[in-house]
Amino acid sequence: MFVVLSIFQCRTVHLHTHFTVQRTQFESLARRLSNVSPHTLSRLADQLQKEHRYSNLSADDRNTLNLLNQVNTVAARLPGLQSAKMFVCSEIWSYFGFFGMPHIFFTCKPNVSHSPTFQLMYGDNSVDLTQQFQSLIPAHEGAIHLAHNPVAVADFFHFLVTCIFSHLFGWDFDCHSSSERGGILRHLEAFYRCNEFTERGSLHGHFVIWLLGGLNPTELHNCLDCPELQRRFFVFFEDIIHHHLPDTDVNIDPAFEPHTQWPPLPPTITSGVPSIAPAEWDSIMATKVKHCGEVLQCHRCKWVCHKYGNDERCRFLFPHEVIEESYYDAASKSVVLKCGDGTMNYLNPYILVYCRHNHDLKCILSGRAAKAAMFYITDYITKTELKTHMRCCPWCCVL
Ligand SMILES: [Zn+2]
Repeated sequence: MFVVLSIFQCRTVHLHTHFTVQRTQFESLARRLSNVSPHTLSRLADQLQKEHRYSNLSADDRNTLNLLNQVNTVAARLPGLQSAKMFVCSEIWSYFGFFGMPHIFFTCKPNVSHSPTFQLMYGDNSVDLTQQFQSLIPAHEGAIHLAHNPVAVADFFHFLVTCIFSHLFGWDFDCHSSSERGGILRHLEAFYRCNEFTERGSLHGHFVIWLLGGLNPTELHNCLDCPELQRRFFVFFEDIIHHHLPDTDVNIDPAFEPHTQWPPLPPTITSGVPSIAPAEWDSIMATKVKHCGEVLQCHRCKWVCHKYGNDERCRFLFPHEVIEESYYDAASKSVVLKCGDGTMNYLNPYILVYCRHNHDLKCILSGRAAKAAMFYITDYITKTELKTHMRCCPWCCVL
């Protein structure tokens, strides 16, 4: 599998790699470039990977590295390379130009190795998805399956995202628009997605979402001066985004694994009569949200929270400030949503219960923060983790 993927990657590198340099330096750089051998690049990549200092490199390797730094674009649209990410960035900005500011930032982090659906896609025929209760394979076996079959991981992720958008958000992929019925966020106008490959070999999805009929921040802030519109705005957002779990009294087994049971079947309506009384359904949902939320959405600080010099604080800013009631501060144009539990990730109850994966859903309409959020989001969802030694590899293939 990896060999085949590597062949495809090499082919793409050969066909779609372009070097751009300043016109005045073209002659000299072209001459120097033609003298670089694949062997030198391989050696340089190896030394950089082992974190050799620049001063310890040989003169030949140093020249090659300098040359590499003078060539602006190594490759166009190759998945994972910086130029491809730049393309994504400009595409997102085009969406901003056309649709205005997005309203919601949604992150979906499926736990692939704990999913019976993934096990089935991986080829484990002992999984019977028709059963209400599933048995999971041990975590380390799940992790091996994940590492063993990246294509199944990508298939599973694509399947999950398609299900969320078509069944929960009511997006019609054939028509590229919201279905007439809409979904749990009502009707979407557009969305943009970026995938991120994690160090565990899994995939995360980051989405910016535009709601149909949603206002730009400036228009919205004018409307929020009206108490009635402000009330309706908060009713809507508190309905779709929660920052607390239901206040129900349930005992949760510490070993509870949300992926071993299917979600409850939603009520059906026959001749105007629902199959389950609304109060009973609310109670079932509250119990499920509590169970799944405690396991999947509660933030517990770990070592990753303190990476990048954040020794004293959690870089994800947990615990969040508890906010008793949503409010709009007209002076700073801040939209602040209710937060009942500072250790909880923002969640939507239906995404939580029906997908059973960690997720995050944020309203990004808060004054200047909206603009700051845009810069943060485009930077974050297109962040590169490409090390210098990795940049040598496509060069090596081309030469
Ligand atoms: Zn933390």
